[in-house]
Amino acid sequence: MRVYNFAAGPSTLPLPVLEEVQKDLLDYQGSGMSITEMSHRGKQFMAVNAEANALLRELMNIPDDYAVLFVQGGASQQFAAVPLNLLQKGKADYILTGNFATKAYEEGLKYGDMAVAASSKEANFTYIPDMNAVKFRDGIDYVHITQNNTIFGTRYIELPKTNATLVSDMSSNILSEVVDVKKFGLIYAGAQKNIAPAGLTIVIVRRDLLGKALPICPTMLNYAIQDKNDSLYNTPPCFAIYVAMLVFRHLKSLGGVPAMQKINEEKAKILYDFIDNSSFYTNSVDKKYRSIMNVPFVAPSEELNAKFVAEATKAGFVSLKGHRLVGGMRASIYNAMPTEGVKALVEFMKKFETENKNA
Ligand SMILES: *Cc1c(COP(=O)(O)O)cnc(C)c1O
Repeated sequence: MRVYNFAAGPSTLPLPVLEEVQKDLLDYQGSGMSITEMSHRGKQFMAVNAEANALLRELMNIPDDYAVLFVQGGASQQFAAVPLNLLQKGKADYILTGNFATKAYEEGLKYGDMAVAASSKEANFTYIPDMNAVKFRDGIDYVHITQNNTIFGTRYIELPKTNATLVSDMSSNILSEVVDVKKFGLIYAGAQKNIAPAGLTIVIVRRDLLGKALPICPTMLNYAIQDKNDSLYNTPPCFAIYVAMLVFRHLKSLGGVPAMQKINEEKAKILYDFIDNSSFYTNSVDKKYRSIMNVPFVAPSEELNAKFVAEATKAGFVSLKGHRLVGGMRASIYNAMPTEGVKALVEFMKKFETENKNA
């Protein structure tokens, strides 16, 4: 039986996509083998690679002067790839809104003069700094943000006010809401949250930023080389790219990103409204900045948190344990989590509250 899987990543995939994968697995389109067993330079995989690229461009409305790259190493590898490709003057500013933003900054420190333009660390990252108040240094190569904070459950509602190249880690919000790609010089995302199995990382980069990598930049991290080779400089994560293609087709059939955004906002509202109207559960994120993808919440005590996670698991709601930096619970409600899953979770939460409120 399929469970409702609220994992933060790797996370749930759309059922029709999994069924298609299952159907294709032993014999991909009459080839007599699976997509994971064939050459990445063969006609069939090359077609998958090209279609996945074209569909992502269509879904995100990516202009022609941007390269779309399929690379490996996860979003964490991009923490290094970004400075190695973009530093010209040797300086960049970071906004610290969580664990991954901090890691990106710390990795950047190895390659240049990096500064923290703003941080919400003093409040355990429960809000996003006010963009009107954040000032950046002169002469920087880029500003780095983490648009949705997977662990802390926050998201940007406006972008930094800067003329510098804007770099965004969209690992946990890519394709969940409409973004204007033109506002960014570079977007990157690990695929395992909202797109595909782990192993694939998406990079969307404006082409005028290419070809200026630092001499020490490893060949594999050099965006210009990946672009020139259509992301086939070496063996790519073929299976993950193939599943990504199926997910992109699926999203397109549902009406694309605007339709997903509407559904995601509805799902998040169901959960937040319930939490806000309950005297049992709490979400401590500043309401203005609440993520529509990752919803952390707590019950009144550590004992009840543990009991909640255990009973939820038994009832078929899995991976609700919060990240160790936040504690409590976290429901990740990415594109592939159906509205019925969120409604069923709320019903479970109600029942648990009734049974435990006088405990
Ligand atoms: C999960 C996540 C990462 C780390 O991704 P990996 O692919 O595991 O390296 C980085 N940033 C954000 C926002 C994430 O959610």
